[in-house]
Amino acid sequence: MTKDYYKILDISEFSTTEEIKSAYRKLARRWHPDVAGNSPDIIEHFKEINEAYEILSDNIKKADYDRARRFYNYSSSNSQKETKSYNKTSTNPNNFKETTHKEEKRNSFWEDIFKTHKAEEVKSPKRGEDIYSDVEISVFEAVSGATKVINMLQTQICPKCGGRKFVNGAKCSSCNGKGETSVYKRFKVKIPAGIKNLSRIRLAEEGEKGQNGGRNGDLYLTIHIRETQNYKTEGMNILKNIPIAPEVAVLGGEVTVSTLIGNVSLKISPNTKNGQKIRLAGCGIKQNDKVGDMIVTVEIQIPQDLTEEELELYRKLRQLKGRGVV
Ligand SMILES: [Zn+2]
Repeated sequence: MTKDYYKILDISEFSTTEEIKSAYRKLARRWHPDVAGNSPDIIEHFKEINEAYEILSDNIKKADYDRARRFYNYSSSNSQKETKSYNKTSTNPNNFKETTHKEEKRNSFWEDIFKTHKAEEVKSPKRGEDIYSDVEISVFEAVSGATKVINMLQTQICPKCGGRKFVNGAKCSSCNGKGETSVYKRFKVKIPAGIKNLSRIRLAEEGEKGQNGGRNGDLYLTIHIRETQNYKTEGMNILKNIPIAPEVAVLGGEVTVSTLIGNVSLKISPNTKNGQKIRLAGCGIKQNDKVGDMIVTVEIQIPQDLTEEELELYRKLRQLKGRGVV
């Protein structure tokens, strides 16, 4: 069977509604062209995932599909084995491979099955599906707020044939007879200042289109604050590692730390140890009238490119310490 929606979502035919939904969300996130890249193969697979979910999440369509699938498996059990495969274990979407021979014939088989049902379907309003996606922002954008432009792949009625699938008796060339095309819709999303990692932004009615007058689904965006080598976030706190020289760690001193509110002078106490944490109050993420801290972790770094004079001092120090027992 060519379009095995269970296989596409990597679930068994006995999966619960929740399992179907969760499998879909996981795959839709992984294969989203914003994440996986927008090669035609990936876009096609992303559409298949959405198509599989559209059928399997709708009880009536699912029942039809299950019947057809059983029939098909039965009638083709002695014929050629399945040739389509997805590299399920890989997290790299570029490993995606498929072979699609005999697909045309089989698709029309499915279309016939569904057409029979569509004619009987009651035209009651149906709410569009919600769409879930992710947006990555920098720590700076999280602190000061930002406007991000994101592109979402959405299905629309083919503008050339108006969804009729044919133009002047010939299969519409624009949608290849599907009646709909996929387009990227651009959204401008306002990220409020002080947003926390994994916060969710809801864009009302920007999800899938409702049918027969039903309202559109919503678009939910999960915010991911990009963690860089220099900064990480933890709630309203910002974590940062700072390199200090051995002599500063031993004798104490002062270092300049760049924070989100500018450079701050930080006093290092004598005998500071590697990995020691120091809190810079009020240098974290601001939200309403609250503000987090910056927590710096001291990293004692072995100096590189020492001058001859500096090396001489180290030699003296080694001489003074003698040869200890370890
Ligand atoms: Zn068309």
